[in-house]
Amino acid sequence: MSIYTKIQQAIARKIGKSTELSHWKDWRWQLRHAIRDIATFERLLGIKFDAERKRELEETIDKFPLSITPYYLSLIDRTNYAVDPVFRQAFPSPDELQVTSCEHEDPLHEDADSPVPGITHRYPDRVLFQVSNICSMYCRHCTRKRKVGDVDSIPGKDEIMLGLEYIRRTPVVRDVLLSGGDPLMLPDSHLDWILRELRAIPHVQVIRIGSRMPVVLPYRITPGLIRVLSRYHPLWLNTHFNHPREITTSAREALSRLANAGIPLGNQTVLLAGVNDCPMIIKTLMQRLVENRVRPYYLYQCDLSEGLSHFRTPVGKGMEIMESLVGHTSGFAVPTYVIDAPGGGGKIPVMPNYLITLATNKVVLRNYEGVITTYQEPEKYEAVFCDRNCADCRLELNMEGTGEYSAVGIERLLSDFHETISLTPEDNIRMKRRSNGRPD
Ligand SMILES: *Cc1c(COP(=O)(O)O)cnc(C)c1O
Repeated sequence: MSIYTKIQQAIARKIGKSTELSHWKDWRWQLRHAIRDIATFERLLGIKFDAERKRELEETIDKFPLSITPYYLSLIDRTNYAVDPVFRQAFPSPDELQVTSCEHEDPLHEDADSPVPGITHRYPDRVLFQVSNICSMYCRHCTRKRKVGDVDSIPGKDEIMLGLEYIRRTPVVRDVLLSGGDPLMLPDSHLDWILRELRAIPHVQVIRIGSRMPVVLPYRITPGLIRVLSRYHPLWLNTHFNHPREITTSAREALSRLANAGIPLGNQTVLLAGVNDCPMIIKTLMQRLVENRVRPYYLYQCDLSEGLSHFRTPVGKGMEIMESLVGHTSGFAVPTYVIDAPGGGGKIPVMPNYLITLATNKVVLRNYEGVITTYQEPEKYEAVFCDRNCADCRLELNMEGTGEYSAVGIERLLSDFHETISLTPEDNIRMKRRSNGRPD
């Protein structure tokens, strides 16, 4: 018997509805017995907070609700809980009530970029579709803290239909990312309905699901769920492991079921102070993930959402971690480090600099070891003027359905065929002066 099984047995017994582990792997049982108050948490783990602490904790969960699945609770090391990475992700801290001036309810402006409720359409060809506003476990570092657990905001079928309708009438959308909350909180039949509706839309090429279930409630990945998901390929799933301790036997089993069903798996990690802000932890996590057929996708700089300041690290910490990954381990174990731009600019990749300098025919680079090297560029390279007339191009892009091509942003500045030579901020003072004919 593994150590977790003993702890799980003790927790199941204290929950009191069962004397053995027979219900432990039933995800609905887990949801019914999610820990939602401080007293139950204390009782199950045999931890006691003093009255003052308890009052602060109550105040915190009044604003940001508490929910921990018995499974995820069983991963907490209670002998050393204060510094435990699982505890810190799951259990409230009064620090969450400290809101600094740079923090916002909706720092990524997801609501401003929302054409209909539930949809955020930020990028040219894909949308975020929030189909559930509840989770089995409320991550303390959630970027959507403002919304999760709000019982009034569980979208009904009508609201989902509005989202589906928007996607149906917006042919540029070729990729739909189901998010939430956790989409896998929906019953199989409801999820099946949403996926079926999406699959019936001809321009939707790819469907993605973002879910933390493999981490916080791996028993959700049932054969029944796999049968549903398998009907709607190509379907991708991104999950959210933050620490190697989360990769348990049950989590591995869930990942294996998903991978065996042909679902490409990715992982998004958030860099969190006191949880995983260490190159060794992240490297180990990335290696464990690829062992389980999960491709590390993003490493996020912690967002500027309200109540997350105690979780934030300097960007330099992320950079240091990237330096310890690139070259040091398998390329496919290296995620892209991103900062999600406050104000809705989207994810911006940040990487250490490997390009040192360049001359007309030569670039100077450094590698992960600090070796400095040169790359000789071709003597001759004939630049061909591109007018985006692909039918006449020697590169022969004779593909159907590539569609209209209009360059966006920086891509437009680089293109031959577009006349834009500069991009100017909307409220540029110099431009205002020109149009007003007087200084500001
Ligand atoms: C992250 C995100 C996406 C998906 O971005 P990818 O880089 O394609 O993974 C889409 N829409 C919104 C609003 C997002 O935040």
